[in-house]
Amino acid sequence: MKHFTRLWRVFLLLVSLTTQISCQTTGAALSLEPKTALFPETLRPGEPYVVAVSGYQKAPLKASLFRDGQKLGSGRFFELGESGARGKIYCAIMAAPSTAAEGPARLLVEGDAAVLSEFELTIESRNFPSETIAITGGMQDILTRPDPQKTREAEQLWAIIGRTGTGLYTDGNFIMPVNSTVQTSRFGTRRIYKYPDGRSSTSIHAGVDWRAPTGTPISACAPGKVVLARARIVSGNTVILEHMPGVYSLYYHMDRIVVTEGDFVETGSRLGDAGATGFATGAHLHWEVRVAAENTDPARFLGRAVLDKAAILATMNE
Ligand SMILES: [Zn+2]
Repeated sequence: MKHFTRLWRVFLLLVSLTTQISCQTTGAALSLEPKTALFPETLRPGEPYVVAVSGYQKAPLKASLFRDGQKLGSGRFFELGESGARGKIYCAIMAAPSTAAEGPARLLVEGDAAVLSEFELTIESRNFPSETIAITGGMQDILTRPDPQKTREAEQLWAIIGRTGTGLYTDGNFIMPVNSTVQTSRFGTRRIYKYPDGRSSTSIHAGVDWRAPTGTPISACAPGKVVLARARIVSGNTVILEHMPGVYSLYYHMDRIVVTEGDFVETGSRLGDAGATGFATGAHLHWEVRVAAENTDPARFLGRAVLDKAAILATMNE
């Protein structure tokens, strides 16, 4: 009898523990609504941001940013590889276009044929510098002469930077790819090209230009995969690295390239040497960062993680 009582007590204890555990699990699932969060919460033209989502029954597919009913861009979600209080966390790395007007905007998170969440946010104001560049005859030729090869190269580049893979080689904390202190053209500069025949055209500078004599080493700003390493008509000898889903760094006008497509590189790995190949007025490095195909201020990536996992986890666990 004594033995039976002891067994009975153990049984009761087990039942009580199991009930507690199941109540806690059910309680947590009931009390936590699905969550969408933005990092940072206010967008700045030409800067990246991260949309984090967790707790929806269906995985999110893409997020789209709207301003005055007009779509400013979309980003695709990937699994962060971390689980929070609501389960798997999905992120999309996006960028506000440098041309986005300040004011209220709307972000839509879409699943398979359904809107999962929608919220209001603000785009800050930002001024960009302007510059006028005198174009010589040879340079005008590179820029304006119709050439099927140039079209093919442009299509190939857009196909690469428009792709959102799954490779997460870094958290987006970049270093300078060249040892230079002279920035000859800033990100987002509104440019006017003046041609010898008196005509002109406009363009927006998609990256930053660092003065660098021919032969200056150019290195990878972060770990990544070499997805393009070849000569192009407009950008000269060009390297493109993939760092995170939809995040690429681009290096233009190099004198020579020492990496091959398919290579994996570490932060600081030599990619080649600076030069003046393609559409360039002198030896320099044009360094560009693309996020979900949008050109983005590379300075925003220097010394800080764009995909701050600790901050994302903390917020998604609230
Ligand atoms: Zn440039």
